[in-house]
Amino acid sequence: MTTIIDNIETIKKQIEKTALGCGRDPESITLIGVSKRKSAATVSKALDAGSSDLGENYIQEAVDKIDALGRDRACWHFIGHLQSNKARFAVQYFDYIHTVDKIKLAREIDKQAAKVGKIQKILLQVNIAKESTKSGALARDAVCLARELAGFENVSLEGLMCMPPYFSDPEDARTYFKQLGHIKQEIMAAGVASLTHLSMGMSNDFRVAIEEGSTMVRVGTAIFGGRD
Ligand SMILES: *Cc1c(COP(=O)(O)O)cnc(C)c1O
Repeated sequence: MTTIIDNIETIKKQIEKTALGCGRDPESITLIGVSKRKSAATVSKALDAGSSDLGENYIQEAVDKIDALGRDRACWHFIGHLQSNKARFAVQYFDYIHTVDKIKLAREIDKQAAKVGKIQKILLQVNIAKESTKSGALARDAVCLARELAGFENVSLEGLMCMPPYFSDPEDARTYFKQLGHIKQEIMAAGVASLTHLSMGMSNDFRVAIEEGSTMVRVGTAIFGGRD
C-alpha cells in the first residue's frame, strides 16, 4: 500500500509532466486534496506532506475537522452542495466556495461575508453535461448568472467549476472540460468578470482537465484511497 505522502508526490509529478507537455506552467495548477469522509488524523498526514490546499464536501464534517486541524494550516475549498442555511459556516471556514449555482445562495453568501468583513471567493458551478442528479447552472444560463454574481459587493467571482460524468476512459470527459473553457472565454469576452480559475479534473481525469486549461484539480481517491 502506498502512503499519502507517496501519492501526493506521484500526483504532483504527473501534474508537472502534463502541464509541461501542453506548454503550461505547472505552478498555475493547484492540487486540491479532497478529504471528504477522511479523519482529521488522515488529513493531518497530507498537511505534513506539504498539502497546501484541501477540499471538503460536507459542512458539519468540515467544520469539526478544520477546528481540529487549524484554519490556518491550509487553503480550504468547499466543493460540496451548499444549502443557503449553511452559507454562514462556509464563509467562516472556507477560502473558496466552488459550488455556487444560484442567486439565492450567492445573496446569502454575500450577506454572511459582509457580516464578518470578508470578500468571499466563489466559483460558479456549471452542470456541464446537464445531468439531473447533479447541481450546477446550465451552460446557457452561465453568462447571465455570472453577471449577477459579479455584482455582489462581498463576493468575488474567481472562476468556473464542473464535474462531468465518470468515464472509464478519461478522454471522454475532454469535450466537457473544453466546453467549460469556452464558457469562461465567453464570460470574459462579455466583460462580465475577469476569471482566473477553472476547477475541473478529479483522480481519474485530471490530466485531461489540465490539457484543457484546469487551474484547480480536485483529487481525492488517488491521494487518500477509496472512501467507505
Ligand atoms: C469527491 C469529489 C472529488 C474527488 O473525487 P476522486 O474521484 O476521489 O478524486 C472531486 N470533486 C468533487 C466535487 C467531489 O465531490
